[in-house]
Amino acid sequence: MNGKVGYDDTPVIPGSKWRVHDSNRPQPRIVAPGTESAQDKAGKAPSDAVILFDGKDLSGWIGKGGGAAQWKVENGYMEVVPTTGNIQTKAPFGDCQLHVEFATPEKVEGDSQGRGNSGVFLMGLYEFQVLDCYDNPTYADGTTGAIYGQYPPLVNACRKPGEWQTYDIVWIAPRFDGARLVSPARVTIILNGVLAQHDKELQGPTQHRKLAQYQPHPPVGPLVLQDHKNPVRFRNIWYRPLTDYDQT
Ligand code: MG
Repeated sequence: MNGKVGYDDTPVIPGSKWRVHDSNRPQPRIVAPGTESAQDKAGKAPSDAVILFDGKDLSGWIGKGGGAAQWKVENGYMEVVPTTGNIQTKAPFGDCQLHVEFATPEKVEGDSQGRGNSGVFLMGLYEFQVLDCYDNPTYADGTTGAIYGQYPPLVNACRKPGEWQTYDIVWIAPRFDGARLVSPARVTIILNGVLAQHDKELQGPTQHRKLAQYQPHPPVGPLVLQDHKNPVRFRNIWYRPLTDYDQT
């Protein structure tokens, strides 16, 4: 093969500029994988991840009214301080693989949507529910792993209150051409290593008691974590942008 590991005489793959087994097709970048989260400590992010929260401070985040984020940081995690408001990343981003670890309060208080409620909002608009759903019935599309108000998770894979849980989310932002929706947002969600949503098309920004409807917005937006008046904890938050991996 003259030192080449592929071919230059094969057919071109439809929809691509590359031949089958093309020698010149770029090699996938090498990424050192992270370690999985454990109950006693956060895992390590992959080598090319953008770290949004490293367990030390909230310097990458802003709080209510654009001021400093008021949530508590201790022991490598952040914790919602009820009524201080949602927090959001200073930096916006779009298509991504997002990793978030969370723990609902060990001390169980309230029920249904009042127990360990928070949320992970991609682009500040699309909520993937965080709730203590261990032995806590609630409406299905408000379960942890749900696309809030649209799709319940495939299964309830929640751990016990106080235990660390993992969200791994593959997010494809919606595309707009002016006011027109070109393609809806899509998401795949793995909760605690278990598939909760598989390539679901969102109907629009998530809503409480209302139908979703798309409104045009930029291709990037901040990650928002919800203050729903429960002291939910978060740690080890990172993402990997996906747009630079397209080799079609
Ligand atoms: Mg919520």
